[in-house]
Amino acid sequence: MYRTHTCGELRIENNGQAVTLGGWVQRVRELGGMTFVDLRDRYGITQLVFNMDTDAELCEQANKLGREFVIQATGTVNERSNKNPKMPTGDVEIIVNNLKVLNKAKTPPFTIESDTDGGDDLRMRYRYLDLRRPNVQQNILLRHKAARAAREYLYNNSFLEIETPFLIKSTPEGARDFVVPSRMNEGQFYALPQSPQTFKQLLMVSGYDKYFQIVRCFRDEDLRADRQPEFTQIDCEMSFVEQEDILNMFEGLLRHVVDSILGYDLGKVERMQYDTAMRLYGIDKPDIRFGMTFTELNDVAQNKGFKIFDSAELVVGICAEGCASYTRKQLDELTNWVKRPQIGAKGLVYVKCNEDGSFKSSVDKFYGQDDLKAWAEKAGAKAGDLLLVLSGDTAKVRKQMGELRLEMGKRLGLRKADEFKALWVLDFPLLEWDEDGNRWNPCHHPFTRPKADWETIENWGDIKADAYDLVLNGNEIAGGSIRIHERDLQEKMFELLGMDKEESEHKFGFLMSAFEYGAPPHGGIAFGFDRLCAILGGQESIRDFIAFPKNNSGRDTMLDAPSPIDDEQYEELHIQAVEKVAEV
Ligand code: ASP
Repeated sequence: MYRTHTCGELRIENNGQAVTLGGWVQRVRELGGMTFVDLRDRYGITQLVFNMDTDAELCEQANKLGREFVIQATGTVNERSNKNPKMPTGDVEIIVNNLKVLNKAKTPPFTIESDTDGGDDLRMRYRYLDLRRPNVQQNILLRHKAARAAREYLYNNSFLEIETPFLIKSTPEGARDFVVPSRMNEGQFYALPQSPQTFKQLLMVSGYDKYFQIVRCFRDEDLRADRQPEFTQIDCEMSFVEQEDILNMFEGLLRHVVDSILGYDLGKVERMQYDTAMRLYGIDKPDIRFGMTFTELNDVAQNKGFKIFDSAELVVGICAEGCASYTRKQLDELTNWVKRPQIGAKGLVYVKCNEDGSFKSSVDKFYGQDDLKAWAEKAGAKAGDLLLVLSGDTAKVRKQMGELRLEMGKRLGLRKADEFKALWVLDFPLLEWDEDGNRWNPCHHPFTRPKADWETIENWGDIKADAYDLVLNGNEIAGGSIRIHERDLQEKMFELLGMDKEESEHKFGFLMSAFEYGAPPHGGIAFGFDRLCAILGGQESIRDFIAFPKNNSGRDTMLDAPSPIDDEQYEELHIQAVEKVAEV
């Protein structure tokens, strides 16, 4: 037997017991004839003690141990005279009588501690060492617990866990496919699923009501910060459901996971129309931990001679409570902040609502006290508040103001790390017009049901989708829809998306035929599992919650992947290496 206990297990109750532990050497300290070794495994750290007086040979052996050596130590549990209340095992130590080095280790390239001296690249190259660090371990553990809690909830609600294939034909989620050449079918390729969307719908046709899967999805997107080419979804589908059923079931799932991981009661999950979200927050995933909603000021701010506002499609303000005392410098800095290319505003108008009831603005030339008072009243600004106003093209200015609102929320400490607020965003538009392609694009995906009697629709651009997003603290953590389950409607949808009959038949004939053999009404949702874990772990980056992530250029630097393949493999796969193509 390698060990009787783990390194996180022994307590004062074990005093006097003979035990054997296995683990990694965290550190070795020599102290006046004694040697202390911190032995670590994923359960914790236990202190081993060696005494020069009682066993010099053993003590010398201990002094030679290097960091990260794998050892086995046998000894007796002893109550420490010098207890460490910060460690669960801090009341005891092991007086070692036998020590065995199971494997030596090179000195690791960075310290295996939460606070490490290793940079990002080095840690990723040696991810197996990085994963030993306690903080990374906590993230991976959190992920495990979240997966377990999700499964628990779904099992308890009669969901079936069913796997779907990875080598498939394209499933569109709006990204490029990763493709895999087929050796046995010359010149032909599989696609890796962007999601199991069509399979889960087929499972509904097959009668497997309530499906779920914690599943990898693959999307070959230009990598934006904190996107992974492969990521994990909790993918779910149900039959004979309406939107309301889905919302109830899956806010329950979120509530259960949040409670299991954080012991936090999520409370009521709010609901908001997409249009409202855009109007009040300028974004389809508002952070509703704080207010500071938009006030449209066109009617009070236009036609007073200020050209910039007069020519704007939208004049919109937010009220920053208690910020009337901002200095010139602070206001200039904020103005520069909105003018950065990432935000792209041309300028920022402010109105200080002074404590004495007067107003001071950056546009005093054009607006009198009564005008500014009208703005303040409209925006609900009180004495001591600061009104920040942007103007321009509606879509652009909403986006800019949305960013400014988040920034102000952050600066004012309103986006509290220990507060969680979830929100359903409902009634997204079904389609958006693609100027370049001269056709419609689906806002969600082409299997989403229009929220209208489709046979009588005249203007498809006005139609809402029966789709919903679940937003947590300003992050989209899940999205789904009620689906199309009729062949003719699905055909119509593909036609709107610019596919002719032949193309839609070629790509999705299997799904449309399935719809002809008794497809029930159905709908579903998928949670972005990596993101959910990161939010619950209070961190920004999903990479820290994936055991073996790719870097921002989609590379695994530990494996050095992607990489060229052998000549024989190219031949077998009937494809040519890039340099060979170049030679031809
Ligand atoms: N397949 C969708 C996605 O990956 C989710 C869904 O509609 O269920 O975003």
